[in-house]
Amino acid sequence: MTRILYRWGLKAFMDQVSEKTGWSREGLIGTINYDDELLQDQISEFRFLRTQTLEDKLQELVDNEAIRVIFGTVINITTVPNMPAKVIVGEGSIINADFVICADGYDSAFKDFADCEIEEGGPSWPNAHLVLAFAIPISAVREDEALRSVFQSSTQWNIWVGNGFVVHANVSDGGEFVRATMTANYNRDIFLGDQTWKVRRLEYWGIDFDLFEPRVKKLLSLAESVSSRVFMGRPVLNELVCVNSKIVLVGDAAHPILPGGNQHIALAIEEAETLRCIFTRIQHRSQIPELLVAYEEIRLPRTSHIIKYERGMHLMMKIPNGPQQEERDAKLKQVMAGDWDHMDEELFRAIFGEEFQQYSHDATEEVEDWWTKWGPVISKRVLDREC
Ligand SMILES: Cc1cc2nc3c(=O)[nH]c(=O)nc-3n(C[C@H](O)[C@H](O)[C@H](O)COP(=O)(O)OP(=O)(O)OC[C@H]3O[C@@H](n4cnc5c(N)ncnc54)[C@H](O)[C@@H]3O)c2cc1C
Repeated sequence: MTRILYRWGLKAFMDQVSEKTGWSREGLIGTINYDDELLQDQISEFRFLRTQTLEDKLQELVDNEAIRVIFGTVINITTVPNMPAKVIVGEGSIINADFVICADGYDSAFKDFADCEIEEGGPSWPNAHLVLAFAIPISAVREDEALRSVFQSSTQWNIWVGNGFVVHANVSDGGEFVRATMTANYNRDIFLGDQTWKVRRLEYWGIDFDLFEPRVKKLLSLAESVSSRVFMGRPVLNELVCVNSKIVLVGDAAHPILPGGNQHIALAIEEAETLRCIFTRIQHRSQIPELLVAYEEIRLPRTSHIIKYERGMHLMMKIPNGPQQEERDAKLKQVMAGDWDHMDEELFRAIFGEEFQQYSHDATEEVEDWWTKWGPVISKRVLDREC
């Protein structure tokens, strides 16, 4: 994602608003220092950036291009072959479109247009997940001796893993707050409104605090009220372009990953870059269905793989206490002992190699490779149609 943002001319912006980071699994298991040597060897850069800051910047770019933006809820999209798609907005106004890019998030109303792989609710992947997001003033956090030693630097990314939960927390907002996200398996009844973000008292969710390591318990007790909701599991999609090749899914609508994963926004930026690279090659309107097929062929293997990988990681982190958890902790301890020069490189690659591999994905190159192979065929078809 960073690479793409740089290509879009946002390097100066990123230097100004994001912080380079280290990543740590503190205390209980170990720490990985993302020192220069490791980063150069494995990935280019690892940065903290507030989502809203990036969104504001992208909005500014849209405004600069004088793109017309209409606000309103999309009620429905209808398509028939060889006719424009009709997007029905708000009170019933209709927008005609060659095709529609749906970026309506995890709970997408339009995802059901796409075919999906039914595998949700298996023995391991829970059907429901509780997500809490909260911010605590750093002054309150540093009053606690144990937490003070954890939250010293804004370049550290702390992860607690435990029986059925994962907590990510880091110092943010210029050192003013600790921001944390927790995802946990959720087995209680789900009531109307539980799947909507809302600030609630922690007691609402009936969380068993004894599950947590004392510092997490302390952090949660400082939070009291948290922005929270339940996410229902969603199946992996088998297609990203659907209904007469006129509806394209992007963002969380296309790749349902739980908060706390590493790749959400990166995937969305990759999707934007993929569409940009494909559509800068268009020669004729009649090519649109073929170009959308190209989008699906390029993106589907990547998104399906990441979703499955992220789920595997999530499950590994939330392993219940017992022999498997002890084995996981022992391996992580071993791999995190010492600096990069003295690390057990083979074991490191076995555990984190796949993760690092994902960061080297280059969406721009993917389109170039695809186009080298299939572009001449698509261009020739236009000529044939014109003849
Ligand atoms: C607590 C938390 C922490 C996270 N941390 C990270 C992180 O560290 N790194 C990371 O990469 N990602 C993170 N994420 C995930 C990231 O925020 C999402 O992946 C990202 O916002 C998805 O973008 P999106 O545009 O696909 O969907 P959304 O951001 O959900 O946007 C969808 C938009 O569509 C609108 N909409 C829905 N239906 C309609 C309709 N019918 N008509 C019109 N508009 C509609 C919604 O109002 C919304 O504005 C986090 C998420 C949470 C909740």
